[in-house]
Amino acid sequence: MSGLQRITVLGATGSIGLSTLDVIARHPDRYEVFALTGFSRLAELQALSRVHRPRFVVVPDEVSAQALQAALRSDGLSCEVLVGEQGLCAVAEHADVDAVMAAIVGAAGLKPTLAAVRAGKKVLLANKEALVMSGALFMQAVRDSGATLLPIDSEHNAIFQCLPQDYARGLAQVGVRRVLLTASGGPFRETPLADLELVTPEQACAHPNWSMGRKISVDSASMMNKGLELIEACWLFDAAPAQIEVVIHRQSVIHSLVDYIDGSVLAQMGNPDMRTPIAHALAWPQRIDSGVAPLDLFAVGRLDFQRPDEQRFPCLRLAREAAQVGGTAPAVLNAANEVAVEAFLQRRIRFTDIARMIESVLNRQASQTVQALDVVLAADIQARELARQWLASH
Ligand code: NDP
Ligand code: MG
Repeated sequence: MSGLQRITVLGATGSIGLSTLDVIARHPDRYEVFALTGFSRLAELQALSRVHRPRFVVVPDEVSAQALQAALRSDGLSCEVLVGEQGLCAVAEHADVDAVMAAIVGAAGLKPTLAAVRAGKKVLLANKEALVMSGALFMQAVRDSGATLLPIDSEHNAIFQCLPQDYARGLAQVGVRRVLLTASGGPFRETPLADLELVTPEQACAHPNWSMGRKISVDSASMMNKGLELIEACWLFDAAPAQIEVVIHRQSVIHSLVDYIDGSVLAQMGNPDMRTPIAHALAWPQRIDSGVAPLDLFAVGRLDFQRPDEQRFPCLRLAREAAQVGGTAPAVLNAANEVAVEAFLQRRIRFTDIARMIESVLNRQASQTVQALDVVLAADIQARELARQWLASH
């Protein structure tokens, strides 16, 4: 036994995946890459495999698997290439894996992330959509398997750091009054409302503080990201939606705060670089170097706070309502949002249509009680169908 922790990186070719590999590469004495997965960026996946020499690589289909297997062999690598959702689940739950970074974007990450949870792994959760869709089942699976769930989303990682270790006893029991979820407000925080109709995918993806994948960048611009994060926080910390307040903080230096009944407010701060929460979760409860520069408070200068405007950001309201309704409503919200964001990125709808389309789908699809994953997956399919009908009729 080498004593190294073996890590599977689901979504290795993405923004979080690459940041994870950057942190892992700084600590060859601690970590070893077990598996890498990609979807469309297969040349990048091959290049990453050369550097990190994983035991398994996962791609979406047989044709790309054969091409990649041949390319890896000619590079002198012996990694095994697996295919599709089955391959993703296999590398997430494999007996030799210690920790899984869940960094596939969207609903596609649900089954492999759940596979890691059910196998009792240490799960580093970036894929917020998985938790939003299936919150109750997901958290029950964590309890049943004894998996260690560590939040990667910077806000949730910050909240986790500001809470006492026994917070699972209940927020009220540990003296928490409320959780303050910070948001940058994205690139359109001050854009005149009338101009929002005309903003482009390029503008939406140009986030002022964070460099991220395209889907989450659009979610940040619409503040659906904060809405999904509100739902994510409710599940992770067993909080009611009313216990969570969203605060616009444009510098993205405070990553979230916890307000205690004695008047203490604890914040976690740092430069906006995802390697900090990734390193925190990888090494928890220890600390390791992440490669992130020290925070220079003199360069930051000031910290601003502002209430979010739900007229500007209707997605935030829709997410809060879905959280309150519960059942399949968050899964419906998520699915409609995924279709809407894709359509916006393809220039088929305007930015302001994103919220219109989601609201229409939520109004047409009644929430159902979730007893099993099948109910969530069926709600996801139905919501996507309704969203496509909306697209076709507008
Ligand atoms: P990216 O778009 O950069 O990366 C997404 C990853 O998922 C890529 O590896 C991609 O493969 C893979 N992928 C996409 N679709 C599929 C699919 N259908 N099946 C299997 N794999 C797929 O996204 P991010 O890294 O920015 O975000 C990943 C997750 O982390 C999201 O859930 C996001 O909300 C969350 N997150 C991200 C943050 C950030 O700073 N980026 C911050 C907090 C949370 P390929 O590239 O090869 O197509
Ligand atoms: Mg976040």
